[in-house]
Amino acid sequence: MRLRINQIVMSLAYGEDDVLKAICRELRCKKEQLENVEILRRSIDARKKDKEPRYILSVEVDFHGKPPMLKPGQLEKAPKPELPILGKKVPMVGNVETPPVVIGAGPAGLMAALTLAEAGLKPLLIERGAETPDRSAQVEAFWKNGTLDVESNVLYGEGGAGLFSDGKLTARSKDRARIRRFFETLVACGASPDILIDSAPHIGSDDLARIIPVLRNRIWELGGACAFNSRLEKIRVEDGALRGVTVSGKEIRTDACFLATGHSARDVYSMLVESGVALEAKPFAVGVRLEIPQHRIDTAQYGKWADLPTLGSASFRLTRKEEGNARRCYSFCMCPGGLVISCASSEGLLTTNGMSLSARDKPFGNAAFLVPVGPEDFPMVGKNLPMTGIEFQKKMERAAFEAGGSDYGIPAARLVDFLEGNMGGLPPERSCGRAVPAVLQNILPGFVSGTLQSALPKMLRELNGAELEEAVLYAAETRSSAPIRVLRETGGESISVKGLFPCGEGAGYAGGIVSSALDGMRSVELFF
Ligand SMILES: Cc1cc2nc3c(=O)[nH]c(=O)nc-3n(C[C@H](O)[C@H](O)[C@H](O)COP(=O)(O)OP(=O)(O)OC[C@H]3O[C@@H](n4cnc5c(N)ncnc54)[C@H](O)[C@@H]3O)c2cc1C
Repeated sequence: MRLRINQIVMSLAYGEDDVLKAICRELRCKKEQLENVEILRRSIDARKKDKEPRYILSVEVDFHGKPPMLKPGQLEKAPKPELPILGKKVPMVGNVETPPVVIGAGPAGLMAALTLAEAGLKPLLIERGAETPDRSAQVEAFWKNGTLDVESNVLYGEGGAGLFSDGKLTARSKDRARIRRFFETLVACGASPDILIDSAPHIGSDDLARIIPVLRNRIWELGGACAFNSRLEKIRVEDGALRGVTVSGKEIRTDACFLATGHSARDVYSMLVESGVALEAKPFAVGVRLEIPQHRIDTAQYGKWADLPTLGSASFRLTRKEEGNARRCYSFCMCPGGLVISCASSEGLLTTNGMSLSARDKPFGNAAFLVPVGPEDFPMVGKNLPMTGIEFQKKMERAAFEAGGSDYGIPAARLVDFLEGNMGGLPPERSCGRAVPAVLQNILPGFVSGTLQSALPKMLRELNGAELEEAVLYAAETRSSAPIRVLRETGGESISVKGLFPCGEGAGYAGGIVSSALDGMRSVELFF
């Protein structure tokens, strides 16, 4: 019988034999009675500061012997394996006369195109930005001297917004089968198999830049085509159905378009409004990126074990409820041992974000600290309602650009100066060299800076040992999620245009690498 055993405690230096011994102890059996041991999940338990942190494993194993007494939650019969996602209802040959088109080569578009290609259709993947090597060079130039290519940058290009990221693969979704398929695809393209079992998997920008082109090549090998430096300009809609798309001046006939353009492509939202596609404004969140020395985070989380190399750089998640006039505030997209980066996709607008390399070994950790905002915060009577959230973002991004010296340097302030509303100096040691001292209150809406002033000191106090004097804030974090939702039927199709499948983060139903990738896969499955 196949058994699942949870809560197996292992030292940080465990080996295969230790796992076998632990299973034998649990089942009171000999190694010979065990076969096909598979580690399903691995997390670090560092809750007891006086004890060395340990791994907690969940495993499955074929056990030959008298069925043991089951203990719910600890020792159970293994559930039946979930069916692979594909192979259920996917036709082997395409059932549309014209090739399906996928717009955007971020996680959603890549996985949509791969799913189509694996089903025997020959998708055409269109991406406005460049292939990874060219894009990497463009992004380096941007960070070094502020030269922005508005079509290929930190937010646009092969791999999408997450190429220069921490590559955190966390997701709230319980859709384990699709998550597994996505992770197995990444592993097949060169990611570490650890992502299949780690409770907080991550890849890192350096590895992503290696993996994403392999993933794109798989689409090619299966008969798909990819066009880079090619921008969707228009869609052609006749009688409520999609009939074609215009890409860099050329019309392509198609009845099915998977629109995975992310939430930075504001021109796409405008084009959709003009084409009669239904959109609505949705809540999102804005704030700052906060950076503190990584060793403070490690010590807060791991105590005296902080220097153990197996543990790597620690992360945190902090939240603060609303209090008086201060709104809720939460940390988001923590990048341990990472870098604060400047991002832009249009002239004169600047936003912040964070990234890390696979080793996560830089001396600072950073995270966004965000305050929720909703359509009630940006009512603009007489204006196009769905786009008002974007106007709200733009106002902050324009102010950030100007305060940063109008060359994509990031306006920044020490937390202690921000709390006083002062313009002080910046510490020489920080992850982002092109930062300019600024009064961040001039960039953020009053209720956002008020909330951050009230919440940040209390939140940082939860990280035992973190020094307020060492924290640096960078502004403004404006693009943590989409400010717009493209309305869809349950089948994933736009409610107003048949054959148009808005998916990924830009559609407003996903946020993050994993959920966007899953949304791309799911939209294609619903299409079949
Ligand atoms: C710096 C940074 C760090 C991040 N870190 C993480 C992280 O660690 N973990 C995590 O889960 N998430 C992270 N995110 C968020 C994550 O990257 C996004 O949620 C995810 O990439 C969204 O995927 P997507 O495919 O829907 O859209 P995107 O990744 O935005 O991809 C959209 C693609 O469409 C292309 N496009 C846009 N308009 C057009 C057009 N008109 N024609 C052709 N192509 C077009 C764009 O160039 C882009 O490549 C990070 C984001 C950033 C910016």
